[in-house]
Amino acid sequence: MPIYTLNTAISYLKGVGPNRADLLKSELGIHTFGDLLNFFPNRYLDRTQFFKINQLQQNSSEVQIVGKITSLKTIKQKRGSRLVATFIDETGRMELVWFRGAKWIKDSLKINTPYVIFGKTNYFNGTYSMPHPEMELVENYKKNLRSAMQPIYPSTEKLTNKGIGNRVISQIIQNLFQEFGGNFTETLSRDVLERLNLISKREALLNIHFPQSQKLLTKAQFRLKFEELFFIQLQLIRKKIVRKSKIKGYVFENVGEHFNNFYNNHLPFELTNAQKRVLKEIRKDLGSNAQMNRLLQGDVGSGKTMVALLTMLIALDNNFQAALMAPTEILATQHYNSIVELLEKTDIKVKLLTGSSKTKERKEIHSALESGELHILIGTHALIEDKVKFKNLGIAIIDEQHRFGVEQRSKMWLKNELPPHILVMTATPIPRTLAMSLYGDLDISVIDELPPGRKAIQTAHRFDSQRLSVFKFLKDEIAKGRQVYVVYPLINESEAMDYKDLMDGFESISRDFPKPQYQVSIVHGKMKAQDKEFEMQRFLKGETHIMVATTVIEVGVNVPNASVMVIESAERFGLSQLHQLRGRVGRGAEQSYCILMTDFKLSADAKTRMETMVRTSDGFEIAEVDLKLRGPGNLMGKQQSGILNLRIADIVKDSQILKSARSFAIEILTEDPALNIPKNKVVKMAYIHLQKNSTVWSNIS
Ligand code: ADP
Ligand code: MG
Repeated sequence: MPIYTLNTAISYLKGVGPNRADLLKSELGIHTFGDLLNFFPNRYLDRTQFFKINQLQQNSSEVQIVGKITSLKTIKQKRGSRLVATFIDETGRMELVWFRGAKWIKDSLKINTPYVIFGKTNYFNGTYSMPHPEMELVENYKKNLRSAMQPIYPSTEKLTNKGIGNRVISQIIQNLFQEFGGNFTETLSRDVLERLNLISKREALLNIHFPQSQKLLTKAQFRLKFEELFFIQLQLIRKKIVRKSKIKGYVFENVGEHFNNFYNNHLPFELTNAQKRVLKEIRKDLGSNAQMNRLLQGDVGSGKTMVALLTMLIALDNNFQAALMAPTEILATQHYNSIVELLEKTDIKVKLLTGSSKTKERKEIHSALESGELHILIGTHALIEDKVKFKNLGIAIIDEQHRFGVEQRSKMWLKNELPPHILVMTATPIPRTLAMSLYGDLDISVIDELPPGRKAIQTAHRFDSQRLSVFKFLKDEIAKGRQVYVVYPLINESEAMDYKDLMDGFESISRDFPKPQYQVSIVHGKMKAQDKEFEMQRFLKGETHIMVATTVIEVGVNVPNASVMVIESAERFGLSQLHQLRGRVGRGAEQSYCILMTDFKLSADAKTRMETMVRTSDGFEIAEVDLKLRGPGNLMGKQQSGILNLRIADIVKDSQILKSARSFAIEILTEDPALNIPKNKVVKMAYIHLQKNSTVWSNIS
């Protein structure tokens, strides 16, 4: 007799021939016994309840009834025929109807024999009927490994067409259980099981596929969700521990001349307490002998740039170079300008490297980098090109959340013996649960405080029909000496329509705000970098009143005198983008405004977005709403959502379970980093197994 394991190919399972095996593979990704076992229903029909015929109601959903067929008749219709059965219980009678397969069904039905029927009912002319009921003889119903809650498995059209529906899936899973006799290895330690009052792996698997009651189903779901999240957290935290113990980093012992001189003589403002705290956390990392991998979260305008600069100065004090990378050219330029200005009275050498840097300039930068003459390099992705070689890069700061790629690169930068420290700054706050799942292997710092003296931005939602009064408001603000952004959506760089909207908008604004009284600038992605820069500079210097732009200004642009942000077609933007855009104003001492312009007709989601923006300016709160609206995958982009392909847990709905899973993982690994203590043996076995077999996991490491 063959010995089956969870790794056995699915085609060996009773009820699964080569054809079905191929379909299961291509349609559902089920290759092995284990895959099938972990293929969970996505919902359940409640079959705990039985109805009597006289209890049926016109709006009943799916119901289950016990009764008998008393007679059958075939009724001719225009095309083909339908089969109608009279079905009775002790309270009344109804009809069962088949429009297809009548012949075959007629032969297989038994008259005057008790059946359990299940399905949706219709009501017509005083009689209830059930089309195409699911039917099972009561004697079989009692015998089968079958539960009150009927599982519904995810399926595809192709599978349904090939006759592989719920029943078949349920049946082959039943075969699988019989093969194993229900002996599935426990994966959580007794300690964890007891403390959380979890049911065993075996019971959980049984009840997820064949729930014996609603209560056991709930327990099964809880246990499996916990387990799923627990092992991901275990993996992330282990990764962090291993990195800290194995990946040595440069020790920046000194805080010296560069830092102190700047801090004491050139700091334009007092740091907020949050900035100070975060800086302390960073300094602690830099002083240990492990590589720093820290995520810095902070709302728009919370002052991340200053933290970045001070961190770079520490590297310089230890005779290392520093790099700051931004997602767009405009933002890189902005960082460069503000940092050059801050460092004006020092002798620190800073350069900017972007896609539009001239060849000659590039060459100079390359050689100054290699000789060590250049201290700080700021730029776009151009920084991670092969030609860019540092003499001794001590820290790389990335101003965006897309850390991947840079992390790889940090290994290649490893010209010297050690990799640079890494600080990732997020452009938008990430909800806590998402941060735990995506960045659970990083240390996280949060700036949860805005610099003092900021006035809350007033946000309003206006319809296109109110445009005249909006323009009037803009004129009043301009008369007070303020400047205005008007932003158009540019969802797709190549989208001709979007450009047309932008240009139309620009023309109409130019008409309503005529020269010479008003000066209007325009910036968009199709312009040459130097033209963009020219327009940005004019706006920055206050030479133009209105900046009409696409989202190229989304991140990081800093013009304190701009106090009004008008967002056109605001319903087309996501929440985080809206929040980012709004963050462009409110940087000076004046009262600032954000006006969201939309069509009158809005989807429910769009309404929620507008209401959220009007209600709050708290980036973390906005991020939570965004996560609920869009789900983790869309929020983070494909690349990073890989590890969020969860089988059963949902990081939005199951955030409590996630938190508990994480704290258990931390507790266990703190006590037993290598999982060598006997009580953790089951966890270790499961962990090793997952690392070998899970596709989800390969995305993490
Ligand atoms: P973000 O976190 O969005 O990158 P920035 O670093 O661009 O924010 O800072 C936003 C603005 O706040 C800048 O004009 C900066 O000079 C100013 N700022 C930063 N920290 C402080 C502070 N502690 N006190 C006053 N202003 C500050
Ligand atoms: Mg910034």
